Amino acid sequence: MLEVKNLQKSYEKDKPALTDISFDIKPGTFVAIIGPSGAGKTTILRSLNQLIKDDDGQILLDGKDIRTANKEQLRKFRRQIGMVFQNYNLVERLTVIENVLHGRLGYKSTLAGVFGRYTQEEKEEAMSLLKKVGLEKFALKRCSELSGGQKQRVGIARSLIQHPKVILCDEPIASLDPASAQNVMELLKRLTDEYNLICIANLHQINMAKKYADQIIGIRKGHLVFDEDADLLSEDI
Ligand code: ADP
Ligand code: ADP
Repeated sequence: MLEVKNLQKSYEKDKPALTDISFDIKPGTFVAIIGPSGAGKTTILRSLNQLIKDDDGQILLDGKDIRTANKEQLRKFRRQIGMVFQNYNLVERLTVIENVLHGRLGYKSTLAGVFGRYTQEEKEEAMSLLKKVGLEKFALKRCSELSGGQKQRVGIARSLIQHPKVILCDEPIASLDPASAQNVMELLKRLTDEYNLICIANLHQINMAKKYADQIIGIRKGHLVFDEDADLLSEDI
């Protein structure tokens, strides 16, 4: 369970980016955060893994507050939080399977590409994740040879290799054509159910949110304006 309580953040004095944001998310829920550009969606995601320091509030993952964690505890939390990015953040010159394995080290690690460092078990796990996202045949191709939708599916496989409880997807479909976008949303929904994940995606497209998400959180000018079961959301937003 992820519980966010009264989250506040200002980048500049007297200009709050987030005001009093509270929501709860149960495991097995695909959540879309929607709202116009500048509303605060990215700020929420960055607070959730403490890439930025928010100013006040609580972020509880299974009852433990991420905000007050020490360095070692924070490292543990982050291992439970996978990330998926708009522009994939893959190492293009490396193969697909190397990129997936890279999720074990953290995507910024300098050990990328040292294939021999990984155990047989880790490689098998990476292959089975590639199968889940429909890319097992591409394992040994370089990422630079893939389409945008395929790259995002590699990014999703990478985010899962540490068996996270939560995956944070920052505009996961904003760079994709409509067909690939649907495909990625369908995949995120399926994986959320299968692994009982908390999957949170920032989206611009309300129609995509309604079609695939279980829960929709609306943000406007740093305020939460709705938090609804996707099925219950009225037609007029
Ligand atoms: P969204 O993801 O919904 O587009 P953001 O969370 O990126 O919104 O931004 C929320 C508000 O915070 C905006 O007013 C934006 O200008 C401001 N903001 C975001 N990042 C920074 C930053 N690093 N420094 C100062 N202001 C920022
Ligand atoms: P740090 O900068 O704290 O040493 P990293 O650079 O490894 O940590 O990771 C920064 C952020 O990226 C963390 O929040 C972490 O959860 C996330 N992250 C780590 N590994 C991956 C990965 N394989 N794919 C995507 N995001 C990751």
